[in-house]
Amino acid sequence: MWGPGELGRLRTVAVERSEILIIGGGNAGISLAARLLRDGFDDVALVAPQPVHRYKPLLNYVGAGEATMADLERPMADVVPHGCRWIRDAVDAVDPVAMTAHTRGGRTLHWSTLVVCPGLVEDWDATPGLLQAYADGWAASTYVPGSAPQVWPRLSALRSGSVVFTVPPEPASCAPTALKPLLMACDSWRRAGVLSDLDVRLVLPGAAATGLAEADRILEGRFADLGIEVLRQSRIERVDWDTHGLVLTGGRGLEDVTFAHAVPHYRAPHWVADAGLAADSSPGLADIDPETLRSRRHDSVWAIGDAADAATRPSGGGLRKQVDVLAHNLAAARKGKKLKRYDGYTVLPITVDRRKLMLDEVDRDGKASPSVPFLDPFVPRRSTWLFDRYGLPQVYWRRILRGRV
Ligand SMILES: Cc1cc2nc3c(=O)[nH]c(=O)nc-3n(C[C@H](O)[C@H](O)[C@H](O)COP(=O)(O)OP(=O)(O)OC[C@H]3O[C@@H](n4cnc5c(N)ncnc54)[C@H](O)[C@@H]3O)c2cc1C
Repeated sequence: MWGPGELGRLRTVAVERSEILIIGGGNAGISLAARLLRDGFDDVALVAPQPVHRYKPLLNYVGAGEATMADLERPMADVVPHGCRWIRDAVDAVDPVAMTAHTRGGRTLHWSTLVVCPGLVEDWDATPGLLQAYADGWAASTYVPGSAPQVWPRLSALRSGSVVFTVPPEPASCAPTALKPLLMACDSWRRAGVLSDLDVRLVLPGAAATGLAEADRILEGRFADLGIEVLRQSRIERVDWDTHGLVLTGGRGLEDVTFAHAVPHYRAPHWVADAGLAADSSPGLADIDPETLRSRRHDSVWAIGDAADAATRPSGGGLRKQVDVLAHNLAAARKGKKLKRYDGYTVLPITVDRRKLMLDEVDRDGKASPSVPFLDPFVPRRSTWLFDRYGLPQVYWRRILRGRV
């Protein structure tokens, strides 16, 4: 005899099958699902818990008073492509041998092909005290959507005091774009005549801001011109949230900080490593062949986006190419044909002031890889600023998320 407990459990372990199961409904998951349906795949399911989809690059413009949250948010139901089965749930375990995923809501999902693209999660534990400083209101960042709307009101009200910006250590999503709010704010402070009354500091995880020689030459010029003190090979180790103090690598302390644009550290969701999909050497990212995007451990598993170790800087721009390669490769694998290769193309758009931006489009080796032939991607331009702020979001909603790029 089944007791009520067992019956309840049986009801929640309904098995669902799909040819392609995509975990994550961000830039990667939605644009891939749309592209696969366009390419003729007809059994595509997407697991995504959130009710809202965000175009994340605009978060930095929210932090500079140049965009609102409404500009970058759409209901998830409006972006899940027609013909895709949306499973409104979160995966909490994957078994690549049994080819199943388990969800928080108790479902068991079977796949023939799995695409892992859940992005990264904030690792608040890596910086004790930071979450409390966010709650206290003197720290915020464009990287944390809930706090992004607080950034510009705080920055634009500053007239004196000490302000600290950070670029997060990797893995992080397009980390050097965290310079956008800094450089746009400095430009505004200079115009308002208050820049010299502020102590502006930048904490960088590496020796230079991007690791790309041409971009760094321009950025170093900007830092010097704006009087920004750059603290290199450093990160925030601890936040004394009640005294407004930051303790950096090596023990250096910054006291009486008026406002900190402190980006949290990131990591891949733990279930990726728990499923045996991560390399021991990586910080939990899905271990893939960076060219074919296929798991090195299980042939039925592929990964793209911020949670995949594609041996390049993760970015939305890079995803355009990854989705194209992966869509081709899933069809090719089905027919036993040759796989396409991803060259590691990525983009690190940085505003050098309030109205100019350099795109920094590079391949895996850091060589310039312009989307528009002969256009030097390291030259800051007003036109690229306008394209990044106004043009790309339209391309994103109308073409990228609909699998048309
Ligand atoms: C502030 C900021 C500025 C940026 N600026 C730029 C820029 O200017 N140019 C550029 O090219 N790129 C930029 N990027 C990077 C770009 O936005 C990311 O590379 C891109 O969004 C990554 O897409 P993704 O789908 O891999 O991850 P995400 O966009 O993070 O999406 C992952 C999705 O998976 C879901 N998920 C998580 N866990 C689970 C689970 N267990 N089960 C099911 N679903 C799950 C999440 O809810 C989320 O919706 C920026 C990123 C940020 C944060």
